[in-house]
Amino acid sequence: MQPGAETSQAAADFLRYLAPMALGQPFEARFVLEGIAADRCIDLHFRDLADKRPFSIRITPRREGRRFLATAGRMDLSLVIEGDAGQEVVAFVRKTAALLRQRTEGVSDAALEDCFRSAQAPLLRKVGRVPREKMIDLRIGHVCNANCKFCTDRLTPEALPKAPLATLTRELERVRAAGFEGVTLTGLEPTLRTDLPELIGIARGLGFAEIHLISNGGRLADIGYMEAVKAAGLTVLILSIHAATAEVEDAITGRPGLFAKKRQVLENVQRLFGDRATQDARGTFFRTNSVIVQQNLPSLPALVALLEQFQSSLIVLCYPWIKGKAARDFAGLVPDYAAVAEALAPMRSRILDSRSVISLANLPPCVLRGLPVGTTQYKNLVRAEAVPVVVEGGEPEVTLPSKMDESLGHPPVCDGCVMRGSCAGVSSLYLQHYGTLGLRTLTPA
Ligand code: SF4
Repeated sequence: MQPGAETSQAAADFLRYLAPMALGQPFEARFVLEGIAADRCIDLHFRDLADKRPFSIRITPRREGRRFLATAGRMDLSLVIEGDAGQEVVAFVRKTAALLRQRTEGVSDAALEDCFRSAQAPLLRKVGRVPREKMIDLRIGHVCNANCKFCTDRLTPEALPKAPLATLTRELERVRAAGFEGVTLTGLEPTLRTDLPELIGIARGLGFAEIHLISNGGRLADIGYMEAVKAAGLTVLILSIHAATAEVEDAITGRPGLFAKKRQVLENVQRLFGDRATQDARGTFFRTNSVIVQQNLPSLPALVALLEQFQSSLIVLCYPWIKGKAARDFAGLVPDYAAVAEALAPMRSRILDSRSVISLANLPPCVLRGLPVGTTQYKNLVRAEAVPVVVEGGEPEVTLPSKMDESLGHPPVCDGCVMRGSCAGVSSLYLQHYGTLGLRTLTPA
């Protein structure tokens, strides 16, 4: 199957209706289409480079008698923006409507309806039913059975105090009451809590529409355990896996035998989650996270091939956060951006395809020129968005990139770069070790 071929033709058509706009490319040197999502309607997420403000254009099938900012024949467009919309943004929405009207002129009603209907599944797979700002991380793990070279959580593998189930339940109740609709269970290795299925059941009972779990897979090799976790109400399982061979994986994770268990997890997932079409149909998804380090650079294409074979619905390749062990052991672990670009080159066209399941995270957008930028939903190259995290007994804390790496900044090469407002910048340790190797100023298309 060609990359992205499982994405509906209708969804692909919708992106074509927007041409010459394209994901990640500044339009009129000002408005960048950062993402496209669909759930009953189609949302185009833009950023205005003039003032860095995000806004969305929501497109719905035409409904007579309802008033919208603009119409494009058989579609209505509304503007979603915080605060007052400037005249230029309003004019841009009208221009988008005109573009859509023109581009869909010869398209039949049936094809357009199909587009709205069919666009949902593959996009849901990538973005979930819950908008990012309604998702929150809950750190539930107190210990880990691996010792990953890049770990940002711990320098040593000793256990932390274990949060009682009652405390975590209160936190779930609190954030649910605060309006969060999805939760990611994370922190060290969450499956080492014996009460994990119970906690997932509690989250489901509280009405969370999305319950995600990030795991190194050790315990999930037991299919009975995976079944219990899934039956409790899990909607997205995210496996951390960094290599396609035992030799490299076990060296990176510091736990001999862990690759064999992850391989078993992949087999289990095929049986319990099914292929991508089944995942779409059921609304329960299998995804993967892989950290890019010097040790796995040459074998990244093999890793992606393995994860595609096992039907990961979103393959995220993530440059390490320079924190914890990744900061301590930088020289022997963290690759330079030019080496990363070279390693990704064989997959470049697939990464560039907005419909493919391969996504990048935590890389400045200039590293691989032409890649869409600015969104964690599609082709996340810059995690500039805030991630809310549950803080025990307090208000949800917003973790900005600067909190993951307080040294992020923009060297002089960034002056005049069109992506500067969306780009989280570069770690000072990177600049210290590699200078500006692999960075280049991006200019308007
Ligand atoms: S702002 Fe700097 S690091 Fe970010 S994309 Fe532009 S040149 Fe690269």
